[in-house]
Amino acid sequence: MLTVKSFTNNPFQENTYILYNENKDAIIIDPGMYDTKEFADFFEFIDAEKLNPILLLNTHTHLDHLFGNAAVLKKFSIPFAFHKSDKPIFDSAFEAGKMYNISFEQSPQPDYYISENDLIKIGDDELKILFTPGHSPGSVCFYNELQNFIISGDVLFYLSVGRSDFPGGNADTLMNSIQNKLFALPDNVAVYSGHGPITHIGFEKMNNPFVTSS
Ligand SMILES: [Zn+2]
Ligand SMILES: [Zn+2]
Repeated sequence: MLTVKSFTNNPFQENTYILYNENKDAIIIDPGMYDTKEFADFFEFIDAEKLNPILLLNTHTHLDHLFGNAAVLKKFSIPFAFHKSDKPIFDSAFEAGKMYNISFEQSPQPDYYISENDLIKIGDDELKILFTPGHSPGSVCFYNELQNFIISGDVLFYLSVGRSDFPGGNADTLMNSIQNKLFALPDNVAVYSGHGPITHIGFEKMNNPFVTSS
């Protein structure tokens, strides 16, 4: 069984997640910690729960999702991965920060890339990679079928969807990802988004005003 812990971080109000099992093995997803208190809260939680991080993942590599990559990888010697199609976004994240007047420690390079349908193992639990481009070219979601939840990055939000006007984004591609990958999941799947509150697939199918059929 996985426990999902979330933190809301940085000026972009990004959601950082830690997924951990009963053996305290943990996967860190999108560490967006930016200020001192955010870093302290994050690392104190890991200490207090005696978690043992084993992997760092990025749903995609917009800067608000990787401010904390460098600190996490410095503290824990763990592998780091994202989808290869986001590499150009990753490579420009630091420069993009200058546009926002935001400086942060540059992320180390990934150790490997993840692909559609890969299974990430954490003890007996699994996360399946869904390739869901459109918000960024290499956006992925992490789906836990057994416990009915998905970490959706910036693809799908509570009553909203990710922007598609950033470099490498595409509105039609985004709609395809949502319709064919996310809305193909059971209605009771809980959606933990990159920004905003938790929602559910069935609720978004019924109520999301931005999802149009293709
Ligand atoms: Zn994003
Ligand atoms: Zn974001």
